[in-house]
Amino acid sequence: MFFRLLFAWMLVTVTLTTNLPAQRPEKLDYAIAIHGGAGLEPDKLNADQKQAQEAALRKALDVGRRILADGGTALDAVEQTIRVLEDDPLYNAGKGAVFNSAGEHELDASIMDGANLQAGAVAGVTTVKNPISLARLVMTETRHVLLQGGGAEKFADEMHDQPQIARVPNEYFSTEARRQDWQAAVEKEKERQKQANKNRMGTVGCVALDKHGNLAAGTSTGGLTNKKWGRVGDSPIIGAGTYANNETCAVSCTGTGEYFIRNCIAFHVHALMAYQGKTVDEALVYLTEKVLEPDIGGLIAVDHLGNISMHTNTPGMARAAADSTGKVEVKLAR
Ligand code: ASP
Repeated sequence: MFFRLLFAWMLVTVTLTTNLPAQRPEKLDYAIAIHGGAGLEPDKLNADQKQAQEAALRKALDVGRRILADGGTALDAVEQTIRVLEDDPLYNAGKGAVFNSAGEHELDASIMDGANLQAGAVAGVTTVKNPISLARLVMTETRHVLLQGGGAEKFADEMHDQPQIARVPNEYFSTEARRQDWQAAVEKEKERQKQANKNRMGTVGCVALDKHGNLAAGTSTGGLTNKKWGRVGDSPIIGAGTYANNETCAVSCTGTGEYFIRNCIAFHVHALMAYQGKTVDEALVYLTEKVLEPDIGGLIAVDHLGNISMHTNTPGMARAAADSTGKVEVKLAR
């Protein structure tokens, strides 16, 4: 009888265990994932363009990976990695940001510390070279979470002695490629109002787990091509485009921001994990397949053990990941 019971118990255990999605049992030393935006259409890229995308992702990923490998904090890894992506004209963040309907650039960024749920964000900044660093100062130097427009610019004036806050004229963010995208969007908008939503690509984000067990997330963007002046997307909204909580995961989103705001996507990942016991991968699959409409966007996340998940429901999303096992992954297509 005893052996029969033992056998039955073993059978149930094995069945349950094999049904569980692959989850590592112990925390990795560190893990990091980045994205360079949903909306990328890898089929339309030639070999040189694909190579340029992959090289840019590897370069940024390596900056964050080294910080984490040296025992640095997840917050530093996120900020420094995003600065590299902001300075790269390939991405729609910092240099290379999209044009709004007035032919100018308004940038959004946010950062969150999973250790204490502190967060900082800026929206609609026009002269701050690296908005992610200003977002971090909102977190550490003010009692607020989000500063926008003129107020965020004034705060940047106050932070003039901080070397990470360089100021640039608004034209610094312009690139010829983005100007052409904008002009094409203006033309298409005349035919079809909805087309502007398609013109997103190149937002950047980073999520990281450090050796101290802390998670952090950050996102930076120029928003949507031809967006209305004053429009704020999900990227600077904590809980929509960015979220981090040591209890569960760190998340950064990309895609048509309005959908991410309506569905509180970044917090939604945390909630699915905390309240329903979903794995980080199950949460991302559920959100991209069941909650967001097709072709709206994607997200990256790392959980408190170092499991990385990256999913999109668009044809492509530039993304890369690395962890302390030596794994390095770079992907463009869905
Ligand atoms: N989510 C960004 C926004 O709506 C755009 C993007 O990720 O491509 O502003």
